[in-house]
Amino acid sequence: MMRVVFKRELIEGLLEYAKEAHPNEILVLLRGKKKGTEIIIESVVIPPFSIGGEGFASFNPYLLPADMSIVGSVHSHPSGVKRPSTQDLLYGFGPIIVILGYPYRDPIADVAVFDREGNIVPFKLF
Ligand SMILES: [Zn+2]
Repeated sequence: MMRVVFKRELIEGLLEYAKEAHPNEILVLLRGKKKGTEIIIESVVIPPFSIGGEGFASFNPYLLPADMSIVGSVHSHPSGVKRPSTQDLLYGFGPIIVILGYPYRDPIADVAVFDREGNIVPFKLF
């Protein structure tokens, strides 16, 4: 069973970013490393030319540097519903999809992590 580990400050920073962008969506990529069954998130990357609109935040993956340390992406759901859409699962980047749900306050309750099949992945903060 896969598990994701975040730095608390990193999640708090992302929630702050999502709150500032509201009602638009944000999209950032996650860098990290795999250690056994854990994926440890170390930093975020703002993708080039990301478009924050009222719909799905999108970017062109071909513009990214070839960087094998990208383990997934985070985006926000201004609707507050923390479930991945079909589009999220199809166009996700890397093995994990993190969704931040409005009101972007609580680093546990307003965050959900999924794999590419849409299964919930447990996470912890440190
Ligand atoms: Zn989504």
